[in-house]
Amino acid sequence: MRSGSAERGGYRDPVPAVPVRDDLRALEGYHSPQVEVRVRLNTNESPTAPPAAWRDALAAELSRVEWHRYPDRSATELRRSIADVHGVDPGQVFAANGSNEVLQTLLLTYAGPGRRVATFEPTYQLHGHIARLTGAAVVEGERHPDFTLDLTEVDRVLGEAAPSVTFLCSPNNPTGREEPRANVEAVLARAPGLVVVDEAYGQFASWSALELVDEDRPLVVTRTFSKTWSMAAARLGYLVGPSWLVAELDKVVLPYHLDAAKQIAGRLAVRYAGDMERRVRQIVDQRERISAGLAALDTEVFPSGANFVLFRPRHRRGREVWQGLLDRSILVRDCSGWPRLADCLRVTVGTPDENGEFLTAMQEILG
Ligand code: PMP
Repeated sequence: MRSGSAERGGYRDPVPAVPVRDDLRALEGYHSPQVEVRVRLNTNESPTAPPAAWRDALAAELSRVEWHRYPDRSATELRRSIADVHGVDPGQVFAANGSNEVLQTLLLTYAGPGRRVATFEPTYQLHGHIARLTGAAVVEGERHPDFTLDLTEVDRVLGEAAPSVTFLCSPNNPTGREEPRANVEAVLARAPGLVVVDEAYGQFASWSALELVDEDRPLVVTRTFSKTWSMAAARLGYLVGPSWLVAELDKVVLPYHLDAAKQIAGRLAVRYAGDMERRVRQIVDQRERISAGLAALDTEVFPSGANFVLFRPRHRRGREVWQGLLDRSILVRDCSGWPRLADCLRVTVGTPDENGEFLTAMQEILG
């Protein structure tokens, strides 16, 4: 019998007993390194917990769940609650385990072998990563050096590659840039297939592509409960799009993928939309404080419509500044080694105290 591992000095090294798919061999996983720190400003989460009333209501409803039964397969009430928030039909809503699973289901349905997916870099790495996992080819378009969309490049990429799926991300992660409505309309006019606007940070921005969603338009907008709703632990995301597209996704996604607890958590959350909007306003104020504070130091600050700010120290290496922050137990995202983002760091907006600590540390490091 073949063993899946080999003995070596007390260790059992994994031996690949079964080769993975050829197209996956060179692929690296998605990493978001974590370090134990006092001030954690690296993963764009909400700095504060959801309302205590939501937790109490959730606990009460959880005690009534029939755990021996499968949950509502089509998450009817959850979809209705989300649809009400956006004033759309429940049939235009598809929910999944985080917006990452929404993206995965979209790509399993509309990408796959022999198809192409377009991204405009730098952008959220998982768009390209998940597309590759489905076996699709990823065509990466470039942005202007200030990370705004280059419509000449959009024309070139969409014309040459004829992608089945074209991604935009507004506000874009990791740059923070909002995509103006005119750009989304320009991409929609040119794209031969589906256009996905990832709005994981949509509530922080000044407009939303949700207003463009229509039964006759191949456009979907993805959203998440992980950021503004303070529910990253719940793993819940969704999209709003044409009902004919949602019907296709329902065929592809695994049955009962949304567990009962998550369905309740999401359904109850929307009752606290007022709390969410207050949190968003506070985060936007704090974002402006961080941007102004960094601009007063020796850094290039990119305009942000999100809950984070991308910046580049002008006369110091990004990695050195990241280490200086870490030495003070403050963790930000080190993008300095990523393609097109030389020396850039990304800081998530934290609580007012955390942001103060961050700015003080930056003054010490750059001063
Ligand atoms: N899209 C973007 C642009 C993101 O930054 C993230 C989270 N980092 C996601 C989607 C995924 O969010 P979640 O799966 O938590 O909903």
